[in-house]
Order: sequence, then C-alpha cells, then structure tokens
Amino acid sequence: MPTDGDADRGKNGEVTANHPSPENTVPARIDREALQAKYRSEREKRLRPDGNDQYIEPTGPFAHFLDDCYAEPIDRAPVFDEVTIVVIGGGFSGLVTGSNLKQAGVTDVRIIEGGGDVGGAWYWNRYPGAMCDTAAMIYLPLLEETGHMPTRKYAFAPEIFGHARRIANHFGLYEKALFSTEVTDLTWDETSARWIVQTDRGDQIRARFVALGTGPLHRPKLPGIPGIETFARHCFHTSRWDYDYTGGGPDGARMDRLGDKRLGIIGTGATAVQCIPHLARAAQELTVFQRTPSSIDVRNNRPIDPEFFATLEKGWQQKWLMNFAVLQTGGFADEDLVQDGWTDIAQRIRDRVVDEIGQTGAPFGPEEFRRAYEESDDEKMTEIRARVDTIVEDRDTAEGMVPPTLQAAVFSRRVPPGLQRARRPSGRYRRPRGRGHGRDRRLGRRGALRARLPNLRLRFRGRH
Ligand SMILES: Cc1cc2nc3c(=O)[nH]c(=O)nc-3n(C[C@H](O)[C@H](O)[C@H](O)COP(=O)(O)OP(=O)(O)OC[C@H]3O[C@@H](n4cnc5c(N)ncnc54)[C@H](O)[C@@H]3O)c2cc1C
Repeated sequence: MPTDGDADRGKNGEVTANHPSPENTVPARIDREALQAKYRSEREKRLRPDGNDQYIEPTGPFAHFLDDCYAEPIDRAPVFDEVTIVVIGGGFSGLVTGSNLKQAGVTDVRIIEGGGDVGGAWYWNRYPGAMCDTAAMIYLPLLEETGHMPTRKYAFAPEIFGHARRIANHFGLYEKALFSTEVTDLTWDETSARWIVQTDRGDQIRARFVALGTGPLHRPKLPGIPGIETFARHCFHTSRWDYDYTGGGPDGARMDRLGDKRLGIIGTGATAVQCIPHLARAAQELTVFQRTPSSIDVRNNRPIDPEFFATLEKGWQQKWLMNFAVLQTGGFADEDLVQDGWTDIAQRIRDRVVDEIGQTGAPFGPEEFRRAYEESDDEKMTEIRARVDTIVEDRDTAEGMVPPTLQAAVFSRRVPPGLQRARRPSGRYRRPRGRGHGRDRRLGRRGALRARLPNLRLRFRGRH
C-alpha cells in the first residue's frame, strides 16, 4: 500500500514520481479496439440530452445550499464612491490582478467578493482532505513576493486559503475590499466613461475599469435526482462543509459527531476522492454512489525541504512556472523542476512524437500527435488500472473501481491511500448499471458565462 512517504527524493529536494514499474504493470499488448469501445460506451453514459439542465439550480427550496456558513453576518451602509478599478471575485485571479495593479502603482483597487473573505475556491471548499493537485510551488502565486514556503508538494486547503489571505494582507487589498457582497449589475456610462457597479447591498460604485475574476467553480451544483427535494435529513454541499454538524475541522481533525451516522456521498470526482477517506474513518457506515470510477494515481506528497528551499535564487518561481509551461506544451527543458503528473504525461507524449519522427522521418502532423497521445494515455491508464489490483483486495470491488476513461477525459487525482477505504468494513461502493446520471458535455461559451455570472446583468449605456 503506498503512503505519503513512498516517494523518492528528487535531486532538487522535491519529490520524484514513483510510478509502478512498467514491466510489472503494462501488458505487452493493449487491445486498443476493445479499449476504444469501452471508452465509447462510458461516454454514452455521461452524455445526456438535457445537458446542463439536468442539474438543480440552488434557488427556491434549494437556495440554502448557497448560504455562506463560514461568514459572520455583516450589516453595513451602502457604499457610493469611485475607484480606479473594481475586481469582481477575491480568488487567485482577483488577488493576482489586484496585487499586480498595486505593484504598478494603482492604489485604489477594490475587490468585491460574495464570500466573507478572499480565497475564492479555497474560501468555499473546506471539506476534509481538500488540497491542490498541481504542485504548490507553482500553484500558490506570489510565493517570493510574500516570502512563503509551501509546507508540502501538494498543499492542503487551509494552507492555500491562508496564502490567499497573506497575499491580500501583503498588498493592502483588504483596505478597500467589500465582502459578503455580490455584484449584480454592471453598466457602462459612456458620458462619464465609467462603469457603474451595483451590488446586492445597494452599493453603487463608479470605476474606470472592471476586472472579472469570478472563477469557474464557486457555485454549488446539485444533482437532478428525482426526489432529492424530499430528502429530510441533514444535507449539505461539499463547498459549504458543515463542521458544526460533523465535528472536526478543515485542518483534518476527526469528525467526531459522525460516529453513529450512516452516510451517503454522491459522486466520485476529485472532491469525493479527497473527502471519502475522512468520512469513511469517521462514520459508522459510508455508502459511495459511483457512476464512473475515478482515475487515481499515486500522490507522492511530502514536505518541502527548507534547506532546499533556502537554496532557491531570486526569480525561482517564474523560472519554475516557465519550466512547467514549456514541458506542458511539448517543449524541452534541461530538467523537470515541477515533476508532477502533468509534466509526466506531457513528456511521455512529446518523447513518442520525437521517436516516431526520428524513426520514420515523417513530417509531424495531427495524426502523429493523436497516435502519440493515445499510446501515452493507454500506457498511463494501464498503470493506473493495474494499481487498483495492488490495493483493493475484494475482486468485485476492484473491478468496479477500474477507471474506464482516458486520462485526458478525467485527469487522474492524486490522493492519499485512504481511497482504499473501499475495502474497510464501514465503506460501501454502489455502482449503477447501465446509463449514468452525470454529464460530460462542455458548456458552450454562453452557457459557461451564464454559469459563472448567474445573477449578474451586463448592460451598456450610451454609444458603444
Ligand atoms: C478543491 C479544489 C481544488 C483545486 N485544485 C486545483 C489545482 O490543483 N490546480 C489548478 O490549476 N486548479 C485547481 N482548482 C481550480 C481552482 O478553481 C483554480 O485553481 C483557482 O483557484 C480559481 O481561481 P479564480 O480566482 O479564477 O476563481 P475562484 O477561486 O472560483 O474565485 C472566484 C470568486 O468570485 C466570486 N464571485 C463570483 N461572482 C461574483 C459576483 N457576481 N460578485 C461577487 N463575487 C463573485 C466567488 O464567490 C468566488 O469566491 C481547484 C479547485 C477546487 C475547488
């Protein structure tokens, strides 16, 4: 069974990937046709004619799913003033935009945020086990400017939220910020060449510029399961975790009020994968409702070595970001500084393309790329599938946990060994037969905008 400490130390003090050896896991020949047929049938399960409409909007009887359970209620007078720029959203987009503007000499940056603090996704998502799956050395912005050393290769949510607050403090972004405030209306006034920003608290703020950092994932999605509205027991969304009910806390403290509870969790995406081990440990019984097994790789988390961190020279984070971007886009670098699952798969693909071109002398085209991509994906997914067998003892359960997807379709989650709770006596897996109830259809551009700004009206006044 892998543990957090089963990684090898990389030469830069970081963690190297510790993949199962290919000889042990990759069968000599992959039956690509069978695999493609399986991918197609799984895709069918995910596609539904009602697309995004299958989800229940958190309105009416479901509106409480949007309540901010982390913030104290605030009572303040509406604000009527003018600033150079309003930044809507206090997640990393808003914070990075705001801090760059501050560094460029713009003093009156106003962040307006629906939540009670900065952090965005990391303000809302405090469920047990929440963490990033991009290496913290590049995922956490402005590390050099704020002087923070990530504690681990993949940081847990409380550290990430704390870092968001550190950025806001460091760059004075709290001074003008408005929290627990939703922007509801943006109007461009041609005469004064200003935006008029209105909020659900009656504010009317004039601004030369407006920046949208409203994010993709802050709005809870509710599954449109018939009868969900009749469920009478306590129910909450993972992005509004109710620690008053469960006990414990986002720092990983045991959820001591669940010991006599039988729980169900719907879905096995990244969020569920992260919190299931904690729930399984705490609850009397946990039932996991799964449509499609998740693709789960070795996490290989471990502390960042302070001695190594101290050796990094000024400008290191930009260098790491560039290194990551180069490798991610199929380029070459002397070394892989970040060494995570993203750079791993990108390099597998790149090396295959290079080999093929080298061997055949064929000009590089979409066909070569597609083949390299598929072969790399098959190789990686074979490793991941083989891993299930090495962990889950019960054959039937193991069978039900083998991810039937392309890695690119559902990028593998790096998780602690806790998902193996499936074999714990208190853990149960339920997998539906036949068609599933999810969807994998991408939103159109308009749909995506609507999903991001469901309550925001955009208007233009005057010439444009
Ligand atoms: C658990 C989890 C793990 C993740 N891990 C990774 C990872 O490892 N790597 C990665 O690249 N990405 C990851 N992500 C994706 C994550 O969403 C982004 O990395 C990033 O945090 C998004 O930042 P953002 O500022 O663009 O949006 P958000 O963080 O979503 O912030 C947007 C903010 O805008 C506010 N807002 C929206 N509309 C309005 C309005 N009208 N008025 C006022 N405020 C408004 C929202 O309340 C929200 O707080 C993860 C996400 C989650 C939830």
